[in-house]
Amino acid sequence: MSDAFVLESAEAIGRSVLSRERSAGDVARTFLDRMDRTAEQLRTYLHRDREQTLAMASAVDARIARGERLTPLAGVPVALKDNLCTRCVPTTCGSKILEGYLPPYDAHVVERLREAGAVFTGKTNCDEFAMGSSTENSAYFPTKNPWDLERVPGGSSGGSAASVAAGEAPLALGSDTGGSVRQPAAFCGVFGLKPTYGAVSRYGLVAFASSLDQIGPIARTARDTALLYNVICGRDERDMTSRAEAAAVPLEDLERGVSGLRLGIPRDLIGEGVDPEILASLDRVAKALAKKGAEILDVSLPHARYSIATYYLIAPAEASSNLARYDGVRYGFRAKTDDLQAMYAVTRGRGFGREVRRRILLGTYALSAGYYDAYYLRAMKVRTLIRRDFEQALTRADAILLPTTPTPPFKIGEKVDDPLAMYLNDIFSVPASLAGVPALSFPAGMTKANLPIGLQLVGRPFEEATLLRVARTWESENADAARVPRLLSERRS
Ligand code: GLN
Repeated sequence: MSDAFVLESAEAIGRSVLSRERSAGDVARTFLDRMDRTAEQLRTYLHRDREQTLAMASAVDARIARGERLTPLAGVPVALKDNLCTRCVPTTCGSKILEGYLPPYDAHVVERLREAGAVFTGKTNCDEFAMGSSTENSAYFPTKNPWDLERVPGGSSGGSAASVAAGEAPLALGSDTGGSVRQPAAFCGVFGLKPTYGAVSRYGLVAFASSLDQIGPIARTARDTALLYNVICGRDERDMTSRAEAAAVPLEDLERGVSGLRLGIPRDLIGEGVDPEILASLDRVAKALAKKGAEILDVSLPHARYSIATYYLIAPAEASSNLARYDGVRYGFRAKTDDLQAMYAVTRGRGFGREVRRRILLGTYALSAGYYDAYYLRAMKVRTLIRRDFEQALTRADAILLPTTPTPPFKIGEKVDDPLAMYLNDIFSVPASLAGVPALSFPAGMTKANLPIGLQLVGRPFEEATLLRVARTWESENADAARVPRLLSERRS
């Protein structure tokens, strides 16, 4: 079978499976074959199991044959970031400390997708415990950016974003604590949505920083992003932070245009150090949306420039507590030593990589007696100021438009030895995380060097639909979902 349809939208693939034009089995086989060809070049997956994927697909075909009413995602391949628990399927979070760990249960989002009839392609590579912006912190191997194999795909959900960009799967899930869905989506030229804090249950998402973590969809079109969001959003009794207000986004709403919508640009935040091609793209998109009837105005986020300092205190503080459970007793790797204390220390020393150890140390320090007030408490206060900035700005504007990243994808190795430079790359994604508001990165063209540019829309709590509608309006005239990197197997790596 020709593999041309792998570049169709998830919507089209699901429709063809539901109408029995194709079987879920054929779809799965075609994607699996494509992944076999692209795997070596991209290294997007930590774990794939052909038999398991095919078994899932034939179960979907059997359900359709029985006349079961399935969702638009029936038979659609979905890639899962490796920090989402999958029953009896390896889940490592890109860490050696969880090597060999088989969760006894599925994450809530995984359960929902199974019921919906989705077919899992495998577990995607990520920065260890989702800490990073390049996927280079994976304990296993770095993933390549499909648009330029010498560059990073972004992170931490780099495997998920690269996989969707390269047509290995039309959809993927990532997790976003400070940008980990949006930034790799921007670097790979795809859509990535960080839902409102509380919109999606985190039951079964391995915790990094619990006051920030959200699971989010990655896709090649705005409508596909909505389709995946609709399956995973809403209240789940097993995550007390999940909220019933998070409702599915009707696809028709995405086609309503932007007439009368007010879009704010935070010029005070978008200062120096932003790549001129990204700034030009921001202006181009704002102009195009204004032509469609949107009102463009300036908004101010005066405290957002403190967001990196704030985030890199709060996130490591929470991580130091969440990662205390990896002690060599309950999960994965255990170092062989003579006594118990040494076992804990050596297991954690060897099991965690450099960046994770750095964060545990920073976080433990920030929370320790005598320093708590100066660091953690102050960071929490600044976080409140940042949240208020967004509340204010979003009374004047219906959504905020800004870059997702200050630069296009950087070279592999360029920032690994300079953690501060790596952290600074998160300047535009971290503010919305601290405020808990929804944020969407959408593809907004390419640089002269043919690297993707991503722009970001930030909205009011539970107004994901507005963000998707704005991005859809731009996409309907400017983007091409089938625009994927030149067939990888034809390229020299
Ligand atoms: N790059 C950020 C960090 O390293 C965000 C990661 C994330 O969102 N998981 O913490």
